[in-house]
Amino acid sequence: MARLFTDEHDMLRKAIRAFVEKEVTPHVQAWEEAGRIPRSFWRRLGELGFLGVDFPQEYGGGGGDFVSSVVLGEELARCRSGGVAFSVLVHTDMSSPWLVRFGTEAQKRQYLPGILRGETVCALGITEPGTGSDMAALATRAVRDADHYRLTGSKIFITNGVYGDLYFVAARTGSAPADRRHAGISMFLVERGLPGFQVSRKLDKMGMRASDTAELAFQDCPVPAANLLGVEGRGFQQLASGLQRERLMAAVLAVSGADQALEDTMAYLRQRTAFGEPLATLQALRHRVADLATELEAARRLVYHAVELYASGAECVREVSMAKLFATEAANRVAYHAVQLHGGYGYMREFPVEGFFRDVRLYPIASGSSEIMREIIAKRLPLQ
Ligand SMILES: Cc1cc2nc3c(=O)[nH]c(=O)nc-3n(C[C@H](O)[C@H](O)[C@H](O)COP(=O)(O)OP(=O)(O)OC[C@H]3O[C@@H](n4cnc5c(N)ncnc54)[C@H](O)[C@@H]3O)c2cc1C
Repeated sequence: MARLFTDEHDMLRKAIRAFVEKEVTPHVQAWEEAGRIPRSFWRRLGELGFLGVDFPQEYGGGGGDFVSSVVLGEELARCRSGGVAFSVLVHTDMSSPWLVRFGTEAQKRQYLPGILRGETVCALGITEPGTGSDMAALATRAVRDADHYRLTGSKIFITNGVYGDLYFVAARTGSAPADRRHAGISMFLVERGLPGFQVSRKLDKMGMRASDTAELAFQDCPVPAANLLGVEGRGFQQLASGLQRERLMAAVLAVSGADQALEDTMAYLRQRTAFGEPLATLQALRHRVADLATELEAARRLVYHAVELYASGAECVREVSMAKLFATEAANRVAYHAVQLHGGYGYMREFPVEGFFRDVRLYPIASGSSEIMREIIAKRLPLQ
């Protein structure tokens, strides 16, 4: 079987791992407490070329393939702050790739260099207070007014939304007949600072605390018509085409974070004693760890299979949905047992498994919930 990771990927992994160990992990506790990542961190990522590992070189990207981005996700997830990894991946994999794919030459020249240098932090604005899973029901409107669109509505749960610079916003530009609910949605590049655009709330959440999450309000916000991304009215289809990448990356982050949590747990079991023996010698606990390691390996294989298909350009909605469903739920089972195996210390903030338990709870909800993944998979099974 061909290797998924080449020698170049291995070199990239080594470089990111060294960076994470030296320049990220020592600071994550402070960033978790501050509820944000410092600007200097974004610029450092840009300086090292980690913000566009698979983006075209002509705009300052690394020119690598999608698997390079998987390597970035895997290594960042090991920093012991889900929020740091999630914020970065929202920027690199869940928003800016739409610019590469659907942007005009002028839009790419205007925005990509700043995005790749870590000067322009990106956010994705789809979810609204009234709708999340049902993307076609979004109510934010963009009405054409000469050389602008006037944007009115609100968005919620927007990662990088409080301190971001460039927002990829989905809005309704046309009507949606009952038989074509997905019609009439468009995507826009919205810059922070436009009149009528407000970060209405910084949301307080269970985990992912180093990543900032916003509620946004738009009131007659004039977005230049030149900032329409892709084709007017085709926003839903454009978004749908990028969702596989977003879902795969959520699965990658979940599995790699769980790997780290399991390693931390094994280290703990080796050094903690009870009844005169290290916990790692107790068969009940050894078998528990064996089950978790097996489940994680199964999740990883499912994710790598979907990564391979996605990277080759093959149709892979079923495989990506299965990978996201299984991997994010398996990672949550690992988190539950990692805390349990730490006993009371697992409940304490000073032990990283406590944070992982809170962070990883997001993945079966965001980027398409487990229930939505089951719907997608079921539609592709011979059930009718
Ligand atoms: C920390 C965080 C960060 C996020 N970041 C972003 C971001 O950057 N940008 C962005 O646009 N969004 C973001 N989201 C939003 C996220 O993608 C949504 O929360 C998610 O899609 C679910 O939508 P919802 O919350 O409206 O839940 P709902 O759609 O209201 O669903 C509620 C429950 O009903 C279930 N459900 C819904 N429909 C069905 C169905 N047909 N069959 C069975 N069950 C169903 C769901 O699975 C869920 O369990 C973020 C969310 C969080 C919590």
